[in-house]
Amino acid sequence: MSSLFPTYARKPVSFAEGKGTTLIDENGKSYLDFTSGIAVVNLGHGHEAPLNALKEQGEKLWHVSNLFENTLQEELAAILTQNTPFDLAFFCNSGAEANEAAIKLAKKHTGKNKIITFQQSFHGRTFAAMSATGQEKIKAGYGPMVSEFAILPFNDSEALLNEADENTAAVMLEVIQGEGGIIPAEPAFLEAVQEVCDEKGILLIVDEIQTGIGRTGKRYAYEHTILTPDIATVAKGLGNGYPIGAMLGKSYLRETFGPGSHGTTFGGSPLASAVGKAVVQTIFQEGFLSNTENIGNLLMNMLQEELADNPVVREIRGKGLLIGIECTISASAIADELLNSGLLVVPAGTNVIRLLPPLTVTIEEIKQAVETIKMVLEKQRTLQQTT
Ligand SMILES: *Cc1c(COP(=O)(O)O)cnc(C)c1O
Repeated sequence: MSSLFPTYARKPVSFAEGKGTTLIDENGKSYLDFTSGIAVVNLGHGHEAPLNALKEQGEKLWHVSNLFENTLQEELAAILTQNTPFDLAFFCNSGAEANEAAIKLAKKHTGKNKIITFQQSFHGRTFAAMSATGQEKIKAGYGPMVSEFAILPFNDSEALLNEADENTAAVMLEVIQGEGGIIPAEPAFLEAVQEVCDEKGILLIVDEIQTGIGRTGKRYAYEHTILTPDIATVAKGLGNGYPIGAMLGKSYLRETFGPGSHGTTFGGSPLASAVGKAVVQTIFQEGFLSNTENIGNLLMNMLQEELADNPVVREIRGKGLLIGIECTISASAIADELLNSGLLVVPAGTNVIRLLPPLTVTIEEIKQAVETIKMVLEKQRTLQQTT
């Protein structure tokens, strides 16, 4: 019997080592990791930039309180906000915490309570972030939610225009819904979002926790769109596996988060900031993300080609290296088959196989993964036909 709370339906495999896209389990079997720890290990396992930063900073200084100045935090904030609408960063330790900060900031800044979010969204597991989330299964059993979230159908401009009013503090959305099943926001919907926010003085919060730090082929997914957000939240990919999150915001929000208004013990420690800085210096450098965009297009095209005539596949969608294959059958059953065949993927939404390889994935690895997916889905097709 395990000594852990059974909060996760864990697969019966335990990994001992990782390098790049490869994971090796305790029995020495190797796997292609197309999960990246769910969009976390964007530079692949054991990448030398964050590894060297961890070693060097680990020898110098791990933690000081946020009662003191922190040069590494300042430097990381500067890189994250450079050439963005944002001027300021608040560092924390996870995605949910970044969203909590965003929700608190938006409410306090506007003096208003309502925050509009969307069905199928995922914003985290803390109480406000859970309340913001548009999925009943996340909330089941936890009693009354934080009440001021209005959760609307996604990509429904009319519903948004009807709900957005003088009591609305913010609209909060994922540009591509990740956990919800790789569901992109439609350009016309985003135009309506930006317009209604501008008109009614509503803050726009983009949750870039899954899509940010290069995952979609740009630094942040909103950069593919016409949006000019007031606040963005990042976490997952920021530390390549070292826990760190951040909320980014425009300069006029500065006074709202004055001394004593919000805080955290661990957030942005020298160790976390040094690792995060090495990650973003690598991913945001000239040329890195155009390669991500190219290899993402290659993966998308290969999947479209190889799976085109398989009736088990309903749709393939996404951007960069955040790709979902929507199937007509359970994604978790397919994920188990892929695992047995040495390929790790994550189910999302209903029936979506989510592919998020490290941004450093090679063309060879892409080919190998597509072959495995093709083979496993062929088998599913045959099973479907015989039953
Ligand atoms: C993972 C995720 C979160 C929550 O992040 P945690 O670090 O697990 O708290 C929030 N929003 C989105 C879009 C996510 O993908």
